[in-house]
Amino acid sequence: MTEPQPGRDGGPDGGLLGSGNHWAADRRDWPGGLSPSQREQPRYAWPPADPVTGLQPDAQARDLPLDAHVHTDQSPDADVPIDVYAALALERGIAELAITDHVDFAPGTPAYGFVHFNDRERVVREAAERWAPLGVQIRFGVEITYDSRYEDDIRDSLRTRRYDFAIGSCHIYADSPYAKPHVQAWVDGRSLAEIVAPYYAEVTRAAQSGLFDTIGHMDFVKRYLVPLVRPEQLTAAPELVEPTLRAMVQSGTALEVNTSGLRQQAKETYPNPTVVALYRSLGGQRVTAGSDAHRADWLAWGLEEGYRILATNGYEELLFRRGHGQAPVKVAIPERFRRG
Ligand SMILES: [Zn+2]
Ligand SMILES: [Zn+2]
Repeated sequence: MTEPQPGRDGGPDGGLLGSGNHWAADRRDWPGGLSPSQREQPRYAWPPADPVTGLQPDAQARDLPLDAHVHTDQSPDADVPIDVYAALALERGIAELAITDHVDFAPGTPAYGFVHFNDRERVVREAAERWAPLGVQIRFGVEITYDSRYEDDIRDSLRTRRYDFAIGSCHIYADSPYAKPHVQAWVDGRSLAEIVAPYYAEVTRAAQSGLFDTIGHMDFVKRYLVPLVRPEQLTAAPELVEPTLRAMVQSGTALEVNTSGLRQQAKETYPNPTVVALYRSLGGQRVTAGSDAHRADWLAWGLEEGYRILATNGYEELLFRRGHGQAPVKVAIPERFRRG
């Protein structure tokens, strides 16, 4: 095993670090992926069964132009080979996938030094070449855990490493006040504003950095606050997210509607339709949508709802940058979402 160096997203030799055991102890606290409880069937109640047939509709969407948030086995918390997703996308009519494997910059966090940039890029770009002739576009993206202590390292990395799409996300790790062992003590005696302040301050810094094409799951903290703070309480306090949304608008960082929340305890998208409406009212034009799949059966999961939320709020297209310095591109939201 080679010791990673701070700020290097792949470690100096670019190898897989051992078997990834440096993060195994924290696996239960790892936010995105396959914790033991998540391996069970999700306890979601959406979408409802058809009242006539009683059949549960297929929650994995079909016939969409893009799933902009997908994790493969090059993330420490996912085990899906890229070709499995590509075949599913072909079958389901998902025209484009942004592969956004995790990269962390804080030593000791799960995706720190997990797979070197060169290896990630080769795997994704080779898959893109294989699948493009069949009709599936694959983009080489990344989901970087934003941590303001490492902003300079993230900036340096993005300066030299070219991605088609960079998500910046604030994750909750074991030492966070929102992590399971700490959250009750954190919430006790604090106002709602005080509870969420550190989280949103960090997301705001991520937006202000201008480093990212989109902010991932911008109100993800609500996942960790349930049931101590209910999503409705946060919805009733839009002023708490407004500064973050303003920072996104000002820096041209897109808002992601992340549908993983529909299959998690929050039972709503990250962010929910109320926040999307507020972003729109503040002048937010850049939006994207992703399933945050970590399993094959999560690809495009809930994305029909994600696109519907955007269309209901007046968006006719996804609009986002494909990498730093690039002009934003438009991806039309299908007509079916915009009828009535
Ligand atoms: Zn994430
Ligand atoms: Zn993710």
